[in-house]
Amino acid sequence: MAVDRVESDVVVVGAGPVGLMLAGELRLGGADVVVLDRREGPTTESRASTLHARTMEILDSRGLLQELGTPPCEVRGHFGGLPLDLTLESTHPGQWKVPQTRTEQLLGDWAAGLGARVRRRHDVRAVRVSGPGVEVVAAGPDGPVRVRARYLAACDGERSTVRRLLGAAFPGQDAGRELLRADVAGLDIAERRFERLPAGLAIAARRADGVTRVMVHEFGAPAPQRSGQPDFAEVCAVWKRVTGEDIACGVPLWVNSFGDACRLLQSYRQGRVLFAGDAAHQQMPIGGQALNLGLQDAVNLGWKLAAVARGRAPQTLLDSYHRERHAVGRRVLDNIRTQTQLLLGGAEAASLRALMGELLPHQDVRRHLAGMISGLDVRHDVGPGEHPLLGARLPHVRLKVGRQESTGAQLLRAGQGVLLTLRPEAALLHSVAASWPGRVAWVAARPAGELPGPLEGIAALLVRPDGHVVWVQPGEAVSLHQALTRWFGAPQPVPGAARRSSPVLSPAVFGE
Ligand SMILES: Cc1cc2nc3c(=O)[nH]c(=O)nc-3n(C[C@H](O)[C@H](O)[C@H](O)COP(=O)(O)OP(=O)(O)OC[C@H]3O[C@@H](n4cnc5c(N)ncnc54)[C@H](O)[C@@H]3O)c2cc1C
Repeated sequence: MAVDRVESDVVVVGAGPVGLMLAGELRLGGADVVVLDRREGPTTESRASTLHARTMEILDSRGLLQELGTPPCEVRGHFGGLPLDLTLESTHPGQWKVPQTRTEQLLGDWAAGLGARVRRRHDVRAVRVSGPGVEVVAAGPDGPVRVRARYLAACDGERSTVRRLLGAAFPGQDAGRELLRADVAGLDIAERRFERLPAGLAIAARRADGVTRVMVHEFGAPAPQRSGQPDFAEVCAVWKRVTGEDIACGVPLWVNSFGDACRLLQSYRQGRVLFAGDAAHQQMPIGGQALNLGLQDAVNLGWKLAAVARGRAPQTLLDSYHRERHAVGRRVLDNIRTQTQLLLGGAEAASLRALMGELLPHQDVRRHLAGMISGLDVRHDVGPGEHPLLGARLPHVRLKVGRQESTGAQLLRAGQGVLLTLRPEAALLHSVAASWPGRVAWVAARPAGELPGPLEGIAALLVRPDGHVVWVQPGEAVSLHQALTRWFGAPQPVPGAARRSSPVLSPAVFGE
């Protein structure tokens, strides 16, 4: 049988939300990308339904929010079942209810529109990593397919084939407890928001379409070994023991269970192979953090991998992906573990819950936890310097660029770095950034209204394509040239660039 041979800069395994987000980011960075997925089409399962504030900001920075319309939003969140107000300084505070099927459709259309080649019904069976590249062998609908690429991004989910084939260390804990879940039509039961009863925890939420999602955990019950999903009869039996209600009259549309297994890949980068999303971290989907964590992995990785795969930046840039996202993953997994104890613990967790209940109304505590859950507090170690903006995301800012109004998020639409000068005297810096054409855009702007606190007094700042600030003036500990070289590779000699360059006002950046 003839073997189909495909070449690409990057091969992405997995067309779930993370693989699709990454594919779009790679295309924005100019890398050629092939995505392989074993499934025939996107998932139809009712999985994650929450997009948090930082993810919404990221989608805004790629111009993807309009497509979503205005999804329902709720600032009332929870921490391990204890009420937590998620209001923070963001354009999109709170939990936005978007079914994962819709998120995948949005990202799939975007990535394909940018030129990503998505091949479905391609089941990856073998991976070979050699000096100059990787080779992936998949069973396709018309026979074997061999894809050669410079890099491989494994976004193939919790049971990652790539992780298994490469024997990547994935340390952590197996599940000790589980939560049963069912989407059920035709039920008429009371809403229950994290209701703790003597025998267990019960949740019932009726969706707009009339379907009720029930979730139930029986205190002290160990997680059984499962080879598939539980059946509805089991959910009904546990629901009855915990609540006393009979829900067997309902029609189950989707039944599943999830345990509190918790694992974090030892290294997100193994040479030419990078891991993102559930392939890199396994966690209970408490507070809807799993999907958001994965999407944010993809946005951190995409521009770096594109730059390295296209030869614009050294491979060491990829080490910053592991450093930054592994640290974020560890922190999220820790908060999920804490929440699991609060949520699924029985009488033994009562004192912990009481203490947390006392702490949560304090503004500092609330803001700290809300920052963590929303992803807004992520601050990477980006080198020397004390300024609070360094490593943090660019806060929401309204700007005037020439006569046009813009926002910080709109400046990032082209997926390039941005040198943002906010004072006329800082405009001279553009001659430095001119040696990174196509990689860093210069935007000369004035504040439109009051600057947010952290930006007060700032004359210029360098923002990465993922929205994180890596250099500020005043307050710089390294020169702009050093910062540009670190994050965007060696400068490109452009004769007369300093004289010719002018502020960027391209429709790609400002168009809407
Ligand atoms: C049943 C279930 C319920 C969930 N419920 C929630 C929830 O309520 N809330 C929440 O926040 N999160 C939930 N999650 C988690 C959330 O769905 C994930 O965090 C999210 O899907 C991760 O995205 P991903 O792209 O990393 O992985 P996935 O979405 O798992 O995508 C991985 C892709 O890789 C493909 N793939 C795997 N192996 C191969 C191979 N060998 N060859 C080719 N393709 C391959 C798969 O077909 C799949 O399309 C749930 C997950 C599951 C599985």
